Amino acid sequence: MTAYQKCILCGETHDISEVLTSCPSCGGLLDVEYEWDKLPVPKSLKEFEKKWSERSVPTSFSGVWRFHELLPFVPKDKCKTIGEGQTVLQQADKVAPYVGMNAGNLYLQYEGLNPSGSFKDNGMTAALTHANLVGAKRAACASTGNTSASLALYASLTGLKSVVFVGSGKIAYGKLSQALDYGALTLQIDGDFDDAMARVREVCPKLGIYLVNSVNPFRLEGQKTIMFRVLESLRWQVPDWIVVPGGNLGNSSSFGKAFHELKELGLIDRVPRLAVINAHGANTLYEMYEKNGARWNGGNPDRPLIEGYFKRMNDENRRAHTIASAIEINRPVNFDKCLRALEWCNGLVREVTDQQILDAKAQIGQGGLGCEPASAASVAGAKLLREEGVIAPSDRVVCILTGHLLKDPTATVAYHSGQKKYHDEVLAPRGVTTTQFANNPVPVPNDVDAIVRAIEG
Ligand SMILES: *Cc1c(COP(=O)(O)O)cnc(C)c1O
Ligand SMILES: [Zn+2]
Repeated sequence: MTAYQKCILCGETHDISEVLTSCPSCGGLLDVEYEWDKLPVPKSLKEFEKKWSERSVPTSFSGVWRFHELLPFVPKDKCKTIGEGQTVLQQADKVAPYVGMNAGNLYLQYEGLNPSGSFKDNGMTAALTHANLVGAKRAACASTGNTSASLALYASLTGLKSVVFVGSGKIAYGKLSQALDYGALTLQIDGDFDDAMARVREVCPKLGIYLVNSVNPFRLEGQKTIMFRVLESLRWQVPDWIVVPGGNLGNSSSFGKAFHELKELGLIDRVPRLAVINAHGANTLYEMYEKNGARWNGGNPDRPLIEGYFKRMNDENRRAHTIASAIEINRPVNFDKCLRALEWCNGLVREVTDQQILDAKAQIGQGGLGCEPASAASVAGAKLLREEGVIAPSDRVVCILTGHLLKDPTATVAYHSGQKKYHDEVLAPRGVTTTQFANNPVPVPNDVDAIVRAIEG
């Protein structure tokens, strides 16, 4: 077998056909690994350009599977695709001044253009391809919303039954409506995401249900392609920085693996630096990495340090709390893998407040690519790193916009409407006190002269 699963801690290996979400021996996370020397690896990334002329071939059209040679755990004819990954890298000159970047140096990778409106589809096409390969009939996830939307969509496509666990009252309406409309059995657990995650990990083995959270190593293989498409859009030049919001840390982990593998394969000559941005109200990675010095240490992370932190969090019953619901997570399941990615990519971690997130989100919207709050953490984080002087204005910076504006209309309307009700119920409880970039709607009488005055000012 040229592809296999391997524990990131103890190195134990498993066949590709096994359904595992952790190492049976030590509990570590699993990677999908390849015997590259037995596989047809391209000599240059430019070779992928020939796929552009094959748009009628579904696996060449897909923004994930056109890089099949870099995630070859399944034969090409077994890939389950609906053309995910048709996303764009915008040179964001209108947003650059806000971040403090030179024109031409800030880029936004807009993953909101995926079929279900978030980057999760990159991973879900890979996970459900694997689920199909092992003959799974049901798949499940815990979700802050986007994973459930993506699972529901891909499950209905591939004929699986889907079960989604969401924290009650914790999910944005755009996302909940998708899970319901695509036909997922939607379980509203009386708790938050961390509770839903713990329960789904108990229930799946009990009922033999395939788990698609980002502890699923196949999902992360699909998410590597976000970075391949960034390079593709930059005509294979490596940027200086990748800035990504951090929730369960699947994306950051897969980005690290993508660059590490490209470097090992000799397809790039350097890796970009990785900046992972937490919300202040869900800042486990920031606290652990920047304040407590947790590191991957070449595969020997300081276990007592890390476990002590999580134990204190449990003892104090600390809960995540941010308007960026997609990253409202205190117990990131990919914590170890993310430490590894930070080591591979000389990375760092920052936290931003909900105020910084919503201000950045409004600027991104005015730049023409609307996003949901969690996505805007990347731009708020880049701005912070500019202010600190860590990022230079002449660096080439790519911020990942992880989800579409329409996912969470409540946050957007709350910021722009100027209504007291939204201020009291949505903004103030999260410490958002000003709305300096608000575009207030203008009430006008049903009268032509009044409307003309409103337009002409
Ligand atoms: C899932 C999600 C995130 C968090 O990504 P992780 O891989 O869990 O760190 C961020 N933004 C959006 C919109 C998401 O859906
Ligand atoms: Zn192990």
